[in-house]
Amino acid sequence: MKNVDAIIVGQGLAGTTLAWTLLEAGLDFVVLDGKSRTSASEVAAGLMTPITGRCFAFHPEWDDNWRIASRFYRSIEKRINTPRFFHHVPMTRLFRSDSEALEFHSKAESRLRGAVSCEPATDDPRLIRDFHGGFQMPGGQLNVPEYLSRSRDWFQQSNRFLPVNVELNTPLTIREGRVQLCELDLSARWIVYCTGFVPSPAEFLSPIQFNPARGEILDLEPAEISLSQVIHRGIWIAPQPLDAIRVGATYEWNDLSDVPTPEGRQWLLNRLAEFFAPETKVIGQQAAIRPTMHDFHPVVGIHPHLPNVGVLNGLGSKGSLTAPRLAQALVGQMLNQTPIPEKDSLSRWYN
Ligand SMILES: Cc1cc2nc3c(=O)[nH]c(=O)nc-3n(C[C@H](O)[C@H](O)[C@H](O)COP(=O)(O)OP(=O)(O)OC[C@H]3O[C@@H](n4cnc5c(N)ncnc54)[C@H](O)[C@@H]3O)c2cc1C
Repeated sequence: MKNVDAIIVGQGLAGTTLAWTLLEAGLDFVVLDGKSRTSASEVAAGLMTPITGRCFAFHPEWDDNWRIASRFYRSIEKRINTPRFFHHVPMTRLFRSDSEALEFHSKAESRLRGAVSCEPATDDPRLIRDFHGGFQMPGGQLNVPEYLSRSRDWFQQSNRFLPVNVELNTPLTIREGRVQLCELDLSARWIVYCTGFVPSPAEFLSPIQFNPARGEILDLEPAEISLSQVIHRGIWIAPQPLDAIRVGATYEWNDLSDVPTPEGRQWLLNRLAEFFAPETKVIGQQAAIRPTMHDFHPVVGIHPHLPNVGVLNGLGSKGSLTAPRLAQALVGQMLNQTPIPEKDSLSRWYN
């Protein structure tokens, strides 16, 4: 039987980032993922921004998340000696109307000033129509598919990855303080569930209440432009390899399938046509489910009643930004019993 410190269930942003963080802490692992549906990580644009939404909400933990994420992704690029998959990218937020511009400038007088420059990167009419001004903010973009596939290759080559799905509703076998997956001949001190949203979680994780939000994206080929910045205006437009662009995203709480819809496609094309001038051709469309919680906080920690079970989930729509900090927090709890802040903790679901 192969003995490791941790079995990680799921190789999305959460599982991959946890695996590298464990390795940095000197712990060994095996990651299991059989890929039965399109995951949130596969469709994510990997954008990281300090200010989001209609109300210009400033992410309260931006500084810590950004510092930890930037260092983390750079260190993994170096470790596996790969071309960069994480980039600092200018982020432009365009206003939808003059009244929205006024609202922003009243906020910018106080806390937003300093985080942003009030000059938008572009007012080029060949790129943008219906221009009402905007602002620029610092930010980054993780090429998530590249990060996941390069990591998976590395895990596979070092015998740390198996392409299998774990049966979530089979009772866990725990002997002498270790979890055993006998059918895979694996034993570990911890099993950590990084499954994103799943309709039927393991019985012992059933108190966790998700508010999953389905999202669709389009991949487009724009005529005669090469986009070098990310543009936000209700939707986002992000540069992709080979001069393609990705546009997203819809939010939908009733249909939880991963099948793209004609309605999703039309909604995105209509929003795009409001301000993006170039002609475009659709070259791809995908849908997946964001693992979002009712209180919008992640779910991290060791199970309060099962010391061999951990969880890293609930990354919502900010997985690229928050996964490195949250994985660090989880490994801190696994190794040193460092408490997870209550708002993010798995144990809050068992009080
Ligand atoms: C349309 C859309 C756009 C987004 N854009 C952004 C963005 O720009 N920036 C950003 O930061 N975030 C974005 N997100 C959010 C981001 O995708 C998520 O926060 C993140 O991907 C969640 O990662 P995860 O690993 O928790 O879950 P997932 O990506 O869902 O991964 C879970 C993995 O677990 C595996 N798994 C599940 N069950 C089992 C099992 N029983 N056995 C083995 N393996 C299993 C699955 O196959 C999957 O690979 C977006 C999401 C969507 C849907």
